[in-house]
Amino acid sequence: MGSPRLRDVLERIESAVVSDVLPLVVFDLDSTLFSTEPRNLQIFHEFVERRESYYRELTALARTIRREHMGWNICESLQAQGVDNVELLEELRRFWRDRFFTDQYVLHDDPVPGSVEFVTACHQRGALIYYLTGRHVGGMEVGTVQALRSAGFPFWRGRCTLHLKPSFEMSDRAFKDDALADIRSYHGRVVATFENEPGNANLFLKSFPDALHFLLLTVHSPEAEVPSSGLVQCEDFTLPPSRA
Ligand SMILES: [Mg+2]
Repeated sequence: MGSPRLRDVLERIESAVVSDVLPLVVFDLDSTLFSTEPRNLQIFHEFVERRESYYRELTALARTIRREHMGWNICESLQAQGVDNVELLEELRRFWRDRFFTDQYVLHDDPVPGSVEFVTACHQRGALIYYLTGRHVGGMEVGTVQALRSAGFPFWRGRCTLHLKPSFEMSDRAFKDDALADIRSYHGRVVATFENEPGNANLFLKSFPDALHFLLLTVHSPEAEVPSSGLVQCEDFTLPPSRA
């Protein structure tokens, strides 16, 4: 379920435009606009296909496991399903890492409910759409554009920008600092940000205290920060009925 405060974002975009200020809305991709569960599940099924004869416990698991069992990391998801074979988990971790961060596999993701409609509504009202993701250039950029376009997110039409990590190796901290500087360089008004990682959402709140900051309750990293009480929590982007 989305939050009633999603509607406030649209109103804030409109009032920035009326005041002749460029409104910016920042959207994370993985587990914010896109659900990565189908990507994880696809990788798991390919692993099963290749290794089923070696790891017998995979056979039953492949039949019962569903996308809702997929968490932030595929190995933890399997451990939660009772898999404790260390050799299997290690091999799967490598198999997963070689595929998860690639152009080809991001195409398996599904948009989070309401996300395409909401981003489109923000864009139509005049916001600059700032897609910001830790996906890296040099392996994920082509698939990311393709995924955004095939899902129907605004992209090739002006007032949309896509900021990826310049390399896989760059530290998250340095990337975030660069991203904040780039967002500020527009000299517009950050109206809202959307994130699934509490640490990033907290950082946005600190950096742009006048904006609305949403935390998507999808999945997040295991050692995540405690989310600030100033964040708006929501499960997806579906707009509740309007307050008439
Ligand atoms: Mg994310």
